[in-house]
Amino acid sequence: MSLESFFNPKSVAIVGASRKKGKVGYEILHHMVSSGFEGQVWPVNRSSEEIEGLKCYPDLASIGQTPELVIVIVPAKFVLGVMEECAAIGTKSVIIITAGFKEIGEEGKKLEDEIVRVARRSGIRIIGPNCLGVIVTASKLNASFGGKLPDPGHTGYLSQSGALLAAILDTANANGIGFSSLFSIGNKADVDELDLIQALAADPNTKVIAGYLESITDGNEFVREAERISHDKPILLMKSGGTSAGAKAASSHTGSLAGSEVAYECMFARAGIIRCESITQQFDFAQAFANQPLPKGSSVVVLTNAGGAGIMAADAIERQGLSFAKLTDETIEKLKTSLPPAANFYNPVDVLGDALADRYEFALDVLLDDPNVDTVLVLLTPQAMTDAQGTAEAVVRATQAKPEKPVLACFMGASKVADGVKVFREAKIPQYESPEAAVTTIKAMADHVRWRSQPKRVVKLFPVNRRKVESIIERHLRHGLREIGEAESKEILEAYGFATPKGSIATTAEQAANIAQQLGYPVVLKIWSPDILHKSDVGGVKVGLKSAKEVKDAFDLMMYRIPKKEPNAHILGVLVQEMCRSGREVILGMHRDPHFGPLMMFGMGGIMVEVLKDVAFYLAPLTGEEAKQMLVKTKTYQLLKGVRGQEGVDIETIAEGLQRLSQLVTEFPQIQEMDINPYVVGVPGTTAIAVDARISVEK
Ligand code: ADP
Ligand code: MG
Repeated sequence: MSLESFFNPKSVAIVGASRKKGKVGYEILHHMVSSGFEGQVWPVNRSSEEIEGLKCYPDLASIGQTPELVIVIVPAKFVLGVMEECAAIGTKSVIIITAGFKEIGEEGKKLEDEIVRVARRSGIRIIGPNCLGVIVTASKLNASFGGKLPDPGHTGYLSQSGALLAAILDTANANGIGFSSLFSIGNKADVDELDLIQALAADPNTKVIAGYLESITDGNEFVREAERISHDKPILLMKSGGTSAGAKAASSHTGSLAGSEVAYECMFARAGIIRCESITQQFDFAQAFANQPLPKGSSVVVLTNAGGAGIMAADAIERQGLSFAKLTDETIEKLKTSLPPAANFYNPVDVLGDALADRYEFALDVLLDDPNVDTVLVLLTPQAMTDAQGTAEAVVRATQAKPEKPVLACFMGASKVADGVKVFREAKIPQYESPEAAVTTIKAMADHVRWRSQPKRVVKLFPVNRRKVESIIERHLRHGLREIGEAESKEILEAYGFATPKGSIATTAEQAANIAQQLGYPVVLKIWSPDILHKSDVGGVKVGLKSAKEVKDAFDLMMYRIPKKEPNAHILGVLVQEMCRSGREVILGMHRDPHFGPLMMFGMGGIMVEVLKDVAFYLAPLTGEEAKQMLVKTKTYQLLKGVRGQEGVDIETIAEGLQRLSQLVTEFPQIQEMDINPYVVGVPGTTAIAVDARISVEK
């Protein structure tokens, strides 16, 4: 069902409109009338004849026509009745401002469910309850009590917090920042964040979708849709609740390092969503994304009248990993023809402290022609002769004459540059408080361009033995076992093409020595118990055993010591394992996030993984490129590539391991968490080995 009537209704009824100033019912009616809305407005209130010069009706039916949109402000206990009235007269779009529903507990939740039931039955869409309302500048619809109608603009905003929306609106109005629309989604009983993002994606007045979210209703659907929409309209989100409180006690390393914060990071990365750290930053980004073209690449030129400001910008460019545009000889020659000889003709181009508008206009015009320049950052500090307003007008002229490349401005200072800033605001040239804020914005734009230009994601499928894995998992679940231990985890991994060390279980010292004999020395002994998750922690791993005597001694020692340390652990014996060739130890893991599905992890492995926390996450299923990017993100990557003359290890093998693991966890949603730690990798040409693994499953 379309949300069109929330954007551009021809008629609006306000149920609970009031003549008392300060009441929400008054504020909304007043905003509707004073913002210049051109459709019909019908106040509904039993105890008034007329409000704000409009005839007032006792109920919806008395209007005699069907309002396209109904705004509900009456107390919670009357809302259900109003919904029934809407159903009876055929209204299909309702905004429920009233609070006192799900957010107050069980009682409120019941009422909210009732309301949704009426809506579903009658084909009504609801925004709210417990929200601030809706503002759409193109139709001059201000169905909110948040504040006055903002200027028209290209940013569509949705917020899960009404109070925050009020602050955003106030900031926007004070600074003349425009919006296409603002939606307060409240309890999202019916219309949720995804519905609105989809509606904004289809709205011709919206170029950028921005929002503040606390939760996401359907993670999988959200990722899929956001990824599609991001190719067309940038999505800028603030997400609160960035803690790992949601992660329940995890038994795997991956589980304990993942958390809801990591899940959101992964989801944003996949879907191309641009994350904003604060409201200020969101305004910064929105201004540029909504009003400037995207850059072709990541090289930036700085145009300034002050050396210091130029250096600050240059530092920020370097820190953010953008590139500093190398101007062509032709550009430099051209600059020399008109700028004073003392000017700097290289990036940052310094037109000197006494520069007036003409130098800026000339230089900007030349720089915009340089093929090595993707973005221009114009800086100005107010010096004795500076004409901020004239310079801003010159920048606007030059930019409008060559509108293909983004131009961002940073006129530093306050009162002396205020007139210039005003010019930028009107001409929609984004203006920043500091060079750093401008550069951070350019970085967000360049990253987004890179995200958009990625080749289509192709996930490779390996031939595997699914049957085998299915039977192991089924058997565990049938017996109510959640943890799959090392031996059977390895069978699962072998079925998905991983190599594992040979070995068998021994229950006596004698047997252990016999197995070691067959495997060939040296061997490794590991305690074998479903209750011991991290074997080294209890002295349950002994490597490099070179003789039958060493094996027997190690066996006896483990059987003597471990039961003392872990009196409740059920000890079944020991695993005697061949000793792997040495190599780098990395960890490959997965933690299944309840909202977004499998989060793959790669990092520095072995027993230090949780101490060093040098790990990277990404959402499965992984493409080859994504698997490699995960490696590159860690510091371990430098070690893996080889440092100081040491030969590097086989990077491709690790990336393939991650992809195989990604296939396993995608094909088996029963797997909740798993670690391969360590995954031992050697130089190219050798086989990587999954030395230790653990998997936990759930129905
Ligand atoms: P846990 O993680 O439960 O403590 P692991 O099986 O991962 O036990 O063993 C701990 C460490 O012992 C590994 O990180 C690795 O360094 C070493 N190790 C274990 N098994 C082998 C093996 N078969 N070959 C070589 N080294 C091993
Ligand atoms: Mg281990």
